[in-house]
Order: sequence, then C-alpha cells, then structure tokens
Amino acid sequence: MSGPALLGLMQEQPLLISSLIVFAERHHGDGEIVSRRVEGDIHRTSWAEIARRSRQVANALDAAGVAPSGRVGTIAWNGYRHLELYYGVSGAGRVLHTLNPRLHPDQVAWIINHAEDDVLCFDLSFLPLVQAVHARCPSVRQWIALCDADRLPQDSGIPGLLSYEAWIDACSDRYDWPVFDENTASSMCYTSGTTGNPKAALYSHRSTVLHAYAAALPDAMGISSCDSVLPVVPMFHVNAWGIPYAGALTGCKLVFPGPALDGKSVHDLIEGEGVTFAAGVPTVWQMLLAHMEAGGLRFTALNRTVIGGAACPPSMLRAFRERYGVEVLHGWGMTEMSPLGTVCTLKKKHLAWPAEQQLAVLQKQGRALFGVQMKIVGEQGEDLPWDGKACGDLLVRGPWIVREYFKGEGGNPLVRDADGAGWFPTGDVAAIDADGYLQITDRSKDVIKSGGEWISSIDIENIAVAHPAVAMAACIGVSHPKWDERPIIAVVVRPGAQLAKEELLDFYRGKTVAKWQVPDDVVFVESIPLGATGKMLKTGLREQLRDYRLPDVTAATTTNG
Ligand code: AMP
Repeated sequence: MSGPALLGLMQEQPLLISSLIVFAERHHGDGEIVSRRVEGDIHRTSWAEIARRSRQVANALDAAGVAPSGRVGTIAWNGYRHLELYYGVSGAGRVLHTLNPRLHPDQVAWIINHAEDDVLCFDLSFLPLVQAVHARCPSVRQWIALCDADRLPQDSGIPGLLSYEAWIDACSDRYDWPVFDENTASSMCYTSGTTGNPKAALYSHRSTVLHAYAAALPDAMGISSCDSVLPVVPMFHVNAWGIPYAGALTGCKLVFPGPALDGKSVHDLIEGEGVTFAAGVPTVWQMLLAHMEAGGLRFTALNRTVIGGAACPPSMLRAFRERYGVEVLHGWGMTEMSPLGTVCTLKKKHLAWPAEQQLAVLQKQGRALFGVQMKIVGEQGEDLPWDGKACGDLLVRGPWIVREYFKGEGGNPLVRDADGAGWFPTGDVAAIDADGYLQITDRSKDVIKSGGEWISSIDIENIAVAHPAVAMAACIGVSHPKWDERPIIAVVVRPGAQLAKEELLDFYRGKTVAKWQVPDDVVFVESIPLGATGKMLKTGLREQLRDYRLPDVTAATTTNG
C-alpha cells in the first residue's frame, strides 16, 4: 500500500475501567449489589453507592501518597468493599493486586514482595494470615482491614492498622477520574503455578474493558440488566472471570457469596436473591448439587450457569440440565487470558438435534470469543487440522492474552509462527472440531502416554464421577516397564456409599473409552488435594501416591489396541 492512510473521523476515547463505573452509576444507579459479609449478615447496596465509595477509595489513595501504578493488594472474599476497590484502585490509575488467600503464607509473602504492594486491604477472616506475613513485607506502608471502625481488632500486632470504613470516611466522595493511556496496567493476578515461583499476569484497562464486552455477549455469558448474577468464582482469581466489570457494563444485579461457599449457603443465596445466572468451578458446584439432592431442593429462577476453571464432568452437566432445568455453559480460559477463551453454546443448526447429540456438543469447552485466536500444533510446531480428532498443543493470541509476565519473569513465553506472530502456549492439549468447538483433553503435563498413545485423564475422570458412589476422582499415570505409563484412578467415595474396585472398573465397559484406556487400578483415598483455586492438584496426588506400585499382573497383560 502506498500513500498515507485515510484516518477515520471518530472520537478518540481510551477504554478505561473508570468509564464502566461512571456508566453504571448514570444508567443503572439503583441496580442492586448484595453481599454476604464475613460477619454473616446480608448487606445491600447499589451501583450508585459503589461508584460513590470507589471515589472515596481513589481520594484515600491520593491522600496516602500511592504513586501512579502503585500496587494495592487485596486478600478478600467476594463482596461490595472488594468491588469498590476494583473500581477505586484501577480507576485512579493504581494497580489492583488480588491475592489468593489459600496459598501458603510463605508464598503470600513472596508474592506481596514481588508485586511490591504499597497498601494491602484484607477481610478480617484473613487476619491470622496477615499477622503471619506482615513483618516480612517491607513494601506495604498501610494495612487496611475491610471492616467498620468499631470492629477493628485492637491488639492485632500490625502497626498502623486502619479500618476500611475509617480510611474512606475521611475522604471526599468527589473525584475526577483521571484520563490516561488505555494500555496502562489496571490489575494483576499471580498464576497458581504448580512449579517454580508464581508469575503475574498484568492486565491493562484496554484488555479488561474489551474482555468485559466479550464476556457479556449472548454466546458468551449472555449477561443482561434483567439478570441477577452470582459469581461464586472468587474475585481473588482472575477478576472473578470479569463479572465485576461485565456487571457494571450491563447493569445486572450482583450477588456476592462472601466466605460461605458450602452447598446450603450458596443455594439459600440463589433462592433468596432470585439468582438467574451463577459462575463457579466444578468442585464448588459438586457441593451445591449434593446439597440439592440430599434435601430434594429445586431452583426457582436460576436458568444458566457457567462452569469452568477445570473440566465440567458430563454427569454434572446432565444433572443441571435434566434434573434442574439449568443450562450449563462450559467455559475454558486461564489467568493469562483474563481469563475467558471459549464458552460452549449451541449454534442454530444444533437446536434441531436430539438432546443426546446436543449434550455431546455442550460437553466440549466451546467456541472462541471474538478476540481470541486459537490453533493446535503438533510436536514440530505444525498446524493440526480442525477435525475434532487431531490433538495438539493449544496456542492462543489476542488483546486480552498476556505477551509476557510481570517483571519479565520466566522470559518471553511466546511461540513465534512462520509470519513472526507470537502465540501464547496454554500448556493445554486439545482438539478443535470443524465448527470451531474446542475440547481440552489434558494439561500437557497431566497427559498419560501408554505405549506411545495418549490417554486423556479428563475422559477417564468424567466416567468415574458419573458413578453414583463416587464423590471425586483423579486420574494419573504411573510408570510401567512395558507401556511407559498406565493410568490409575484415585477415588473419593461419597459418604455412606460402598464401592468395590471391580465395580468401578466394570463401569467403564460400554463407555466411550477404549479397553486399553481403562485404568489399571482404583486407589481409594480419603481426599484429593486441591490447589489454591479449588482445582484438583495432581502434583499433590502424585506425591501422596509416590510409593504406589501397579498390580503388575493386570498391567502386564493389558494390550494397547
Ligand atoms: P488458571 O490459570 O489457574 O485459571 O488455570 C487455567 C487452566 O485450567 C487451563 O489452562 C486449563 O488447564 C484448566 N481449565 C480451565 N477451564 C477448563 C475447562 N473448562 N476444562 C478443562 N480444563 C480447564
């Protein structure tokens, strides 16, 4: 192309997080925000009030002398104060750093130091954690307890500890949100990384606003002003999948569960607040379904739920859909992707299909949102076909996907293609079908290779958890002299249920799994270790079973074919 390009004549306006809260206040200021607090009570506020108090947060940061792009850490459950920090901190040009309180205190201290948090706000339930780490975090100049002034612990041992309410009460609720480059950092989240030190994804205002647009679309989470939305997925993990931002953009009611994530508390909140849409990881939904089943309960208004963060077992999808009339949107993503990559919704042509065929589509992780490019590659980096069969390493590109980690940790992660374009390697192994539906078969480090053939641990687990006596199941590979690796399945039996090894292995018969893929053994365990984000921690399980040896006779006679 020669000559200067003709530029469009549209107004230039950076995409800033503050614009979301300004919009929310102006257009749906009376929209409700409901939170179960750490204290146990239910608190009610509105978008207008969140906007007002987020301006007080911004003034408080100015008063505290927090520099532009200074980090403000949070160790907090889902709730209205956390939401105010989402807007007040990022809106004022500082970086919101959400910390995962389920990590080991040493890791929490390491992360605070690495991020160089300047201010740190925490829920009172995390006081013991803060007491354990504060002396090791010299960058933090101000610790704030997210509570009323009269609830501030008097002898916490944390110098200068302030209550959030006293902190913001001292400040005006008038504030002009600054305008700056939309690529400025807005928030950060460390990956749950199972090896090495955690690495942080550093989101920008632009990436966050674009992600919020895409997340709210009908073929993604489909959030509207008529919805009452319950993010059970924590605000400390990848911004609760963008729901706090998509909520402001759409004007939906937001319902925050606080610390109470057990089946009863979540069901009570869903019913009490007319929740139409909820988001969570499979392990939390398992507790909810068990509670529903035990009490013969129903949902009144809940009509759909997005399940992701780990594979949603087909038996769970079926239970929501067939027993409770709730549509499941299976979603896939990761911290490095803000997090949404794909969501599974049917296309028009599928609507006429029989229910069983529709279910086969809905079990996949879904189609890419506009903004996410993906491809699967083979061992030499060659592109693999989208035929639903070829499995390869999944690579992604897009404006809300990391190009590198905070402080360059881990070097440049991108894989260059022949045209020089950089793709982020997800570490997942997947197939993509001709309609663009992604199916994750494994994390690349969890894949089991038996006699040169891959076995998907997700497929093996999905069948096990469909057995009525199984509460949880994790499939891992163990070394084998002939086949290199063979799968075994570790199982937690439901309370009060009985299950024999042979019965579970029999259960694989007639299922969509080849004979050689059936586990060689069933190991009954009390529990399966969970990582900090509620996902099964296979490294922990491997460690737990490190002395385990295969029952050699069965293994030696298994044929790969
Ligand atoms: P995190 O960054 O901690 O959110 O973890 C992201 C990883 O979780 C992905 O790379 C996948 O391995 C896994 N994951 C997320 N969603 C799904 C899903 N729907 N099915 C299977 N694995 C998933």
